[in-house]
Amino acid sequence: MNSGTRPVKALCRDCGARMAPEVSRCPSCGSPRLVRHAELDTLSIAHIDCDAFFAAVEKRDNPDLQDKPVIVGGGQRGVVSTCCYIARIYGVRSAMPMFKALEACPDAVVIKPNMEKYAAVGKDIRHRMQALTPLVEPLSIDEAFLDLTGTERLHHATPAETLAAFIREIEADIGISASVGLAPNKFLAKLASDLEKPRGFSVIGAEEAKSVLSDMPVGRIWGVGKVFQKKLEKDGIRTIGHLQAMEAADLARRYGTIGLRLAKLSHGDDDRIVKPSRETKSVSNETTFRTDISEFAVLKPILRDLSEKVSLRLKKSNLCGRGITLKLKTAEFKTITRARHLNDPTQLADKIFGAGAALLENETDGRRFRLIGIGVSDLADAAFADPADLLDENAGRRKNVELAVDQLRDKFGKTAVELGLTHSAKPGRKP
Ligand SMILES: [Mg+2]
Repeated sequence: MNSGTRPVKALCRDCGARMAPEVSRCPSCGSPRLVRHAELDTLSIAHIDCDAFFAAVEKRDNPDLQDKPVIVGGGQRGVVSTCCYIARIYGVRSAMPMFKALEACPDAVVIKPNMEKYAAVGKDIRHRMQALTPLVEPLSIDEAFLDLTGTERLHHATPAETLAAFIREIEADIGISASVGLAPNKFLAKLASDLEKPRGFSVIGAEEAKSVLSDMPVGRIWGVGKVFQKKLEKDGIRTIGHLQAMEAADLARRYGTIGLRLAKLSHGDDDRIVKPSRETKSVSNETTFRTDISEFAVLKPILRDLSEKVSLRLKKSNLCGRGITLKLKTAEFKTITRARHLNDPTQLADKIFGAGAALLENETDGRRFRLIGIGVSDLADAAFADPADLLDENAGRRKNVELAVDQLRDKFGKTAVELGLTHSAKPGRKP
């Protein structure tokens, strides 16, 4: 598939040399890790995602762990936050309950997450990305989109060459590996970075996008969560190819705004630009108490209030998110963060609060807290928020109630409907 006039040349990921695409090993360094693609030197949108990030940082800092299965996550009652690739061979996955993970891999070394350490490493990597281009859009602590358009003269290299050199740099300097997706747009770049992890470098070109996508399950589309995927499957739409075969108008009729988005994405079209942002994208709210609080029943309505504030900001900025993070600070100023991933992105106070309260319940063991906060991360366009829940008939009703309450509040002010919501969230421990 040679599309341009420029001859296609393979790129060695280990030394940066260019060579004829037919060779199987780099003539300069002997490495077999070559990238070949007809559009290699014309594509400039990248998604970089660190490999098993938390576990990789722990292995870097303790060489004894190198060949062992490593799980980063909370204790027996918690879930797997990240696991290394050795643990994955045993079937361990992130978000898996810890007891299940240890059943699958009894020899795993379990490490409590050290978020401050990971944040520092993530920051270092981000600063290095920002030296490549000002257009860096972080998605989380360890992944970001980069738009390298027009950077050839600055780096004396094509975007692909710049990216390969960047990966070598972070492996050598920071001791962390990452996978790259290079494509004409964000949607395809994110998809590509996931194709050959770890230490991957995948290219999806404009010409092949449709055929590459056609066999993939619809769940691979960024923003289509488990519940929405089930709904699509029930309607006979299992692969992205099924979407490609449908008219955009038909998809819009069936699924509204998200239907139109699916129609475009299924053909590999995505016109969202890479929006630079300085910090990890998340929406959060926190509050410090005048006197420390230890009781779940007292903390719960405060969390409800914060969840509503976060939800309102998400709705106003047309965002939703899958990652829910609870933050607590103890009377001794120790910061605790606990996170969980929802099946589908949400912008509803009800769901944010539900996940936050479950996390909070685990932490209220008598310790006194001076601060509580809740945040939503892993953000996506609001079109993907809270798809109709087939498994929970009441979810649709609750969503409509919440959106109606929002409208009333907009019209008549917050206090107009405060009572209703506060009552539904009456403090008290579940039996
Ligand atoms: Mg990652």
